Amino acid sequence: MSDAELPEKTPSHPPAGEEPPLIDLHSDAYFMGEALRQALRAYAAEEVPVGAVITHKGRIIARAFNQVETLKDATAHAEMLAITQAESVMGDWRLNECELYVTKEPCPMCAGAIVHVRFSRIIFGCGDPKGGGAGGLFNIVQHPSLNHRCEITHGVRGEECRNLLRSFFLERRTRPAAGEGKPPLFP
Ligand code: ZN
Repeated sequence: MSDAELPEKTPSHPPAGEEPPLIDLHSDAYFMGEALRQALRAYAAEEVPVGAVITHKGRIIARAFNQVETLKDATAHAEMLAITQAESVMGDWRLNECELYVTKEPCPMCAGAIVHVRFSRIIFGCGDPKGGGAGGLFNIVQHPSLNHRCEITHGVRGEECRNLLRSFFLERRTRPAAGEGKPPLFP
């Protein structure tokens, strides 16, 4: 056997422990990363940083972020905006072959919409024990008396999702003390 057939460690191969993580383009972690990118867009727009994407057979068909303040619409949660987009793409209100990825557990309003459009599965990052509609406070998406129940996967990149929310609210609390950015409440 020649040396050519037994190459020494290739220089491009980093030492153990330094390898970049392999990215599976169909994994929950990958799609949650796309939802996180949407959440960052919300953050940049001074909206509570929640992002969502909807997939159909492994392909993203809708992306949205929370726009309650921008649109002055309390229903403009990331999930609701993404659902409307996905319905338009599918040409149907039934999204039973679709999956919803959202950085934070859906609220009861969005959980209701999730039941109406019949998602097969929802995936969220961090839970919301105080107000979540997917097991945190209520479990609307799996309620036995409703006409549809969907599978739940939670905790996907949960720390990143939670940290984004934490830093947003921390920044918002500390900003008035810094005296920058916001106009005075009573000019
Ligand atoms: Zn919601």
